[in-house]
Amino acid sequence: SILHRARFTISAAQLSQLPPEGPPEVCFVGRSNAGKSSAINVLTNQRRLAFSSKTPGRTRLINMFGIPDPLEADAQLGYLVDLPGYGYAAVNRQEKQQWDQVLGGYLRTRNSLAGIVLVIDIRRGLTDLDLQLAHWIAPTGRPVLVLLTKADKFAYGKRIQAVAAARKQLKDIGALHALPFSATHRIGIEDATQHIENWISP
Ligand code: GDP
Repeated sequence: SILHRARFTISAAQLSQLPPEGPPEVCFVGRSNAGKSSAINVLTNQRRLAFSSKTPGRTRLINMFGIPDPLEADAQLGYLVDLPGYGYAAVNRQEKQQWDQVLGGYLRTRNSLAGIVLVIDIRRGLTDLDLQLAHWIAPTGRPVLVLLTKADKFAYGKRIQAVAAARKQLKDIGALHALPFSATHRIGIEDATQHIENWISP
């Protein structure tokens, strides 16, 4: 997969620090600890490309991973964009506001945004914060891929139920695709990879 070529490009604390708009971007969002960094790492086939929200520091930033264009030096086919996790309890209001600005600002204003990967812990399902985020996403009209991760924790029947419940909750958002996913047990990886590749090079 072209996703395996992803390389760390830049960390940005503010939208103004992002590279100029251009190649398609696929962003990853989710509650802290939902499994977002594990998903990015397994999809890129790299052990430590994205940092867990348990590691303080870079996880409050927007981290961009470029996928180099094999035909043109220093050009990118696209970017995977790791957005700050939300819902982390130990933050003050000012910090929270800044995150909202970065996250909401990116989702609302980034023209290069080709698709959104929403990472949800299958056992928790969609929380209020996830639905709030979904309301930010809806007006952008961007396609959304929902990864119900840690699916290995559920037997097959419960997995199917959780996927159906998530689809029902999110039915107002345009092009939505929800699937069970597991970074540790490699569930849903091919399906997710195809979606993301399609957004980057249709
Ligand atoms: P992030 O904060 O959203 O980036 O979450 P992480 O990727 O760091 O994952 C949070 C915790 O969930 C870690 O302890 C991971 O090992 C665990 N985890 C992540 N993905 C999976 C999965 O697919 N299955 C299981 N069983 N655990 C997972």
